Amino acid sequence: MTETVTKPEPPESALSAPYWQGLRDGRLLLQACGACGTLRHYPRLLCSACFSDAVSWRQASGHGHVHSWTVAHHAFHVGFRDELPYTLVTVDLAEGPRALGRWRGATPRIGLAVKAILRQADAAAVELWFEPDGEA
Ligand SMILES: [Zn+2]
Repeated sequence: MTETVTKPEPPESALSAPYWQGLRDGRLLLQACGACGTLRHYPRLLCSACFSDAVSWRQASGHGHVHSWTVAHHAFHVGFRDELPYTLVTVDLAEGPRALGRWRGATPRIGLAVKAILRQADAAAVELWFEPDGEA
């Protein structure tokens, strides 16, 4: 018997809708505080530097360096079960904020230069992945 399991849809809200739309448009967007300019990621209501809720959106270059990584052997959702084991990386983006994504490539190294890949996971979702940037 064949079982079809889909991944969860992105938890899109009024707050995060521009971020998810950005991914669908092929752009990784960061929030920029409208009061002090501090960049942040993932999308959230208040600036952690000045607590302003004024926000605009800025496109990230997609370049960064590996901060840390881990290999998932247990899926947090059954929709990812068939992809196990998979590697997750936290990346210090060139613009400053840190982002979490899936990993494509040989075992990552801390400090390795990486670039973002936006990968269409299914009809509804685009996933953020990273891979080595240039010579690695
Ligand atoms: Zn601020």
